[in-house]
Amino acid sequence: MPNTDPNCLFCKIVRKEIPADEVLRDEHVVAFRDLNPQAPTHVLVIPTEHAAHLSDFAQSANDAGAARLLSAAAEIGRRFGRDGYRVVMNEGPDGGQTVHHLHAHVLAGRHMTWPPG
Ligand code: 5GP
Ligand code: ZN
Repeated sequence: MPNTDPNCLFCKIVRKEIPADEVLRDEHVVAFRDLNPQAPTHVLVIPTEHAAHLSDFAQSANDAGAARLLSAAAEIGRRFGRDGYRVVMNEGPDGGQTVHHLHAHVLAGRHMTWPPG
């Protein structure tokens, strides 16, 4: 598998070394339910290739991988959303990122407020 990090939590989910409640998997992405859901549906969509942050991914990803991350998020939003959904990517300390493998949060099943905290 190209570009995997042996110590990264989400790479371990990609490699199936730790369990996750998966809702979608293909060559480019894995999507699984967040352990600490913030909405009735809270799914994380991750690239199968390790990239710590969106900034790194924007440099390293090929077009197919980058497009798939977005289309998978939309697919999950449509599948689990009622009348819309929210997609969030946190980067760095100010963004509130805690796991350093890029992930899109897909939140659905309730009305979201703005601005986020
Ligand atoms: P971040 O704060 O980096 O944007 O989001 C990381 C997310 O990963 C959090 O919402 C957290 O609940 C979730 N998370 C952390 N560890 C695990 C895990 O081992 N399994 C799953 N399914 N989610 C995790
Ligand atoms: Zn990783």
